[in-house]
Amino acid sequence: MEEVQELRELIRKAGLRATSARLAVMRMLRQASSPLSHAEIAEQLAEQGIDKATIFRNLTDLTECGLASRTELGDHVWRFEAVDPDHPDDGHPHFVCTMCGTVSCLNDAELEQTTRRSARPVGRVLEVLLRGICRKCGQA
Ligand SMILES: [Zn+2]
Ligand SMILES: [Zn+2]
Repeated sequence: MEEVQELRELIRKAGLRATSARLAVMRMLRQASSPLSHAEIAEQLAEQGIDKATIFRNLTDLTECGLASRTELGDHVWRFEAVDPDHPDDGHPHFVCTMCGTVSCLNDAELEQTTRRSARPVGRVLEVLLRGICRKCGQA
């Protein structure tokens, strides 16, 4: 209950109405440990009777008001994740498995040294994307 209240406040503060669909989308993004595509979110929220178009509209609204961020990781699929309201500019690197397509969020600290160093001459790094083979595929 408390969590819903917190989300409701967050959404209202951003200037949006806290509809039940919006709350459900936001809740799912916040609980996820990796970025989610529209299809993945739609699949999970279908059982709550929320249709795809509504979810897409909500994802767009949440992204526009800064509560969520949208990333395209080279496979032409937009993925969404919740933005930490205390650290809105805290972009973190992502890892994509080239075999199964799984996307993981990486801790910024692991890459901080190298990205910061190389960023100085070129400007501000907005996104760091690593490609490789995830642990699961590596074992197969
Ligand atoms: Zn994999
Ligand atoms: Zn992420």
